[in-house]
Formats: sequence, structure tokens, C-alpha cells
Amino acid sequence: MQKNIAVIRGDGIGPEIVEQALKVLDKIAEMYGHTFVYDDVDMGGCAIDKWGDPLPQVMLDKCLASDSVLMGSVGGPKWDGVPGPMRPEKGLLRLRAGMGVYSNNRPAKIWPQLASASPLRPSIVEKGIDFIIVRELIGGVYFGKHETEEQDGQLLATDTMSYSESEIERIGRIGFETARKRGKKLCSVEKSNVLDCSRLWKKVMHRLAAEYPDVELSDMLVDNCAMQIVKNPAQFDVIVTENMFGDILSDEASMITGSIGMIPSSSLGATTCGLYEPIHGSAPDIAGMDIANPIGTILSAAMMLRYSFDMAEEADAIERAVSAVLDAGWRTGDIMPSDAEEVAACRKVGCSRMGELIIEQIAK
Ligand code: NAD
Repeated sequence: MQKNIAVIRGDGIGPEIVEQALKVLDKIAEMYGHTFVYDDVDMGGCAIDKWGDPLPQVMLDKCLASDSVLMGSVGGPKWDGVPGPMRPEKGLLRLRAGMGVYSNNRPAKIWPQLASASPLRPSIVEKGIDFIIVRELIGGVYFGKHETEEQDGQLLATDTMSYSESEIERIGRIGFETARKRGKKLCSVEKSNVLDCSRLWKKVMHRLAAEYPDVELSDMLVDNCAMQIVKNPAQFDVIVTENMFGDILSDEASMITGSIGMIPSSSLGATTCGLYEPIHGSAPDIAGMDIANPIGTILSAAMMLRYSFDMAEEADAIERAVSAVLDAGWRTGDIMPSDAEEVAACRKVGCSRMGELIIEQIAK
């Protein structure tokens, strides 16, 4: 199968980590008989330097013409003084809006080899943490009316939240489809005891459930969900929720897994053309030193194979290789344990060596 991938290396550690993910994709292509064609896209600080614009239209067009977009990270102190609309992050917002990606999917998975990095008690971690949060990305209160006015001698601030049935339905379908490709359990998170938006959310989710009889749907109030994520994360397979709840819960969920360098993400819309990126930023403090952890980006590439290209076997091969490399004790600096006994069982490697180890493992 041939797939065209738009590649945003970006700023800071972006080029180093993306390079490792491309090496992994090349190995997968070689082993499974695929062709991946890469088209480099300038976005972020590097695009400001070269084109005077964080995402020139010609670059957005390349992304829109691709089968999917793989991204490193953008931004850094060099561009901190740049005016608002020209900031590197604006390129990313324009890319998401331009691609119409309304669903952000972030897995919270603890690798047993890194369990001691989780702030949760071992007895909770041992039960396993492996779920995904599907967050609505371009609706709800973040995109409602925001205003502050003076009333009766004091300031009054108002933010409106609204959701239409169709907005809920399209993110609901992503939730059900994602659950179908995993453990077939979907937890719909809302605040239906208070909010009308949530009552409509719940109604639409239950209507959709009839179309997905193989997926077990449950409902949970967002405040309970925040508690359950730290109390018993093993109960979750896929969580689907609206924009603001998803923003908060996905940060909580990534924290319990212990390391920012390990976590991938995908953003999807109406088509299979998705945006895949690690959740961390451009880490300017370690850029160019070949010490960044490339695993979040490599796992983002695996998500691209699974969710956009329907290549589950190939995605499994990458995830298995990452696990085997961790089993063997290889670690980048950010995931080195602090406990002296555990340190003795680990070997520290740089970014490119970690990429090579994963490729060697895939080839075995
Ligand atoms: P950051 O995620 O870049 O870094 C936070 C800390 O984590 C740093 O100490 C860094 O060295 C470490 N870290 C991050 N990724 C790592 C990796 N793969 N391996 C090892 N260590 C890693 O967050 P920040 O410092 O707040 O932001 C730096 C820049 O990144 C800012 O300009 C910010 O706007 C931008 N940013 C971009 C994105 C994106 O491109 N999607 C996301 C967040 C932040």
C-alpha cells in the first residue's frame, strides 16, 4: 500500500524525534511491503524564519493533500517576542482548523517497565493503565461567546457553552469506532445532572449505541471520572467527552503514566487524514543534544498506522518493539529511574540510538 505523509519536523527537538519515527516507518514499509512517501512541511518557528508566516497556505495545502500528517513539535524562546497571530502555536491552531480535526485522542498507557515513574501507588498501577481519551476539539465553551461587561457597578464575565446534536454525534462515532478497535468499552463522560449540553450529549450517545451493539457503553459524571482516573484507572478502555472536560481529564491521565516523552496523540476529523504528534513541546533546553526521547513520536506514527491507514498489525509491531526495548533496560535520560537498584538494571542511550534499538527489535 502507498501512503503520502506530510512531515512537520518543526522546532527544538522536533527534527531529531521525527527522524527516528521516519526510520521506524521505513523499516515497517520494508517489512510489510508498503511505500511511505514523505513531503516536508515547514510550520512553526522555522516557517516564520523562512517564510515570515508560521503556516504558509502552500504548506497547509501540502497537509490537506496528504493521507496524514506526522508532526514533531513547534515553538521556542526565539519566537517568544513575535506578535500574537504570527506565533508558532498559531500555525498549529490553523493547521487543526484547516484540517477540520474535531477529535483529539490521547492514550494514557503505563508501560510496566516504567511503573515506578507513576505518582500512583504500586497497588493501583499494577492493575494496569491503558485507556484512551477521545476529546471533542473544536466546539463547546472554548468556542462559545466570551464577554466581560459592566453591570450594576461590577464586572460580569460570561462564557457560553453550546453543542449541536451533529457535533456530538460526530465525536461520539469516533469514540465508538475507537472502542471497536480496542477493548470495546466506551465510557461517556458528562455533567448531565447540571448541564443541558451534557443531557443532550448523553441522549445522543445512547442513540448511537444502538448502531454499535458490540461496544459496551457506560455513563460517568465528570467529577466522578476525575476521581476514578486516580482511584481505579484499570476500569477504562475508551473515554469520550466534550472539549473542556477532555482538556482537563487528558492532562490528569497523562500525569499518572509518569513521563511526557512517552505519550503520543492523534487528531481526527471527518476523513481518515489525521494529525499525529507527541503531547510534549519542543523542549528547547535539550534541543540538538541527541538526548530527547523519541518514543512519543514513534508511538504517534504507530497510531497513524492503526487509525488512519488501517494497519493494525504494523502498529502492533512498533508497540511490541518499544516494549521489548524497555524490557531490555534501554532508557533515554527522561525515563531513567531514580532508585539506585533500578538504575543498575538500565542502560542510558540517546535519541538516535533509541530509534535504532526499536528498528532492530522490529526486524527480529
Ligand atoms: P516541553 O514539553 O517542551 O518541555 C517540558 C520539559 O519536558 C522540559 O524539561 C523538556 O526537556 C522535557 N521534555 C519534553 N519532551 C521531551 C522528550 N521527548 N524527551 C525528553 N525530555 C522531554 O514544554 P515547554 O518547555 O513548556 O515548552 C517548550 C516550547 O514548546 C514552547 O515554545 C511551547 O509553546 C512549545 N509547545 C509546543 C507544543 C506542540 O508543538 N504541540 C506543545 C506544547 C508546547
